[in-house]
Amino acid sequence: MTREASQLAWPVIGHEWAVRLLAQTLRHGRLSHAYLFVGPPGVGKTTLARALAQAMLCSQEDPASRPCGACRACQLVRQDRHPDVRLVAPPGPDRALSIEQIRELQREASLSPMEGRSKVFIVRELDRATPQAANALLKTLEEPPPHVTLLLTAVQREALLPTVVSRCQVLALRPLSIAVVEEALRERWEVAPEQAALLARLSGGCLGVAVAALEDEDVGARRQQAIERMMHALEADRVTRLELAEQLSQEPEAVREIVSLWLGWWRDVMLIQSGCDDRIVNIDQRDVLQRAARYWAHERVREIVQGLRDTLEYMEANVNTRLALETLLLSLPYAPSRQA
Ligand SMILES: [Zn+2]
Repeated sequence: MTREASQLAWPVIGHEWAVRLLAQTLRHGRLSHAYLFVGPPGVGKTTLARALAQAMLCSQEDPASRPCGACRACQLVRQDRHPDVRLVAPPGPDRALSIEQIRELQREASLSPMEGRSKVFIVRELDRATPQAANALLKTLEEPPPHVTLLLTAVQREALLPTVVSRCQVLALRPLSIAVVEEALRERWEVAPEQAALLARLSGGCLGVAVAALEDEDVGARRQQAIERMMHALEADRVTRLELAEQLSQEPEAVREIVSLWLGWWRDVMLIQSGCDDRIVNIDQRDVLQRAARYWAHERVREIVQGLRDTLEYMEANVNTRLALETLLLSLPYAPSRQA
């Protein structure tokens, strides 16, 4: 089997360099005891970690054929049911990875593998660990039991202890090209071409984001509602805008997504103004975007885009969300009907 063909067996779309590197390292028996996959949400960090676990535990004789995807080990890993592979993740969107979870990992790590050659721990979103949990994990990284491999993922490498990062092989995953995501959605998820094109663009090259959107029936409606709210804000007076800021600040789960959607929309307006129509994300809104591009001055649109970026950063930095939204909404221009 050629090297290229063996790569195709990894259940990973894109990230060819990382797959090649890991496959070679594994074949030469030089796998490190800890890997850190970093990259934006949905880029494929856990998918790659799971594929590596499959390759490590696959029962094929020939190392070049691992992972086969078909043997019992490969199937159990794919379903997160393999007794020697443990997936550890923050317990909820607002909850950090806890010291108890790391202690449980350490307890299991001290035991011998149940059936495989080694024990694999996939620890997701390590940048959302409490300081105590991160420090505890550092101990395992410093003196890992010989049969244990740790596969860690994080969105922000900067949020991790430098001592943790330095003990791992770091693989930074970048978003895939829109074309690769679009093709994967069409061919592997059997998504209709028009929807695949839109979802691929909205995902920004993070296939996991697009697939999550497929499984989330409300995502289209939420996006439509977010855009309508923004249109409404443009036509609204000061008082109504402040009311909207208050309303939005009471939806902490949704507000980031809403502001991100607004940013994507205005960035599209800017792209059309710059003659880059082919790069817009909201391809189903082309007419509205083109009208907006003709109506608003380029300079004004750039200010709006910057204001939206700032707002996202403030929210990331845990600045008072309501204040950030008020500042944003009051800085938006007023559509003609309201200009007095
Ligand atoms: Zn297998």
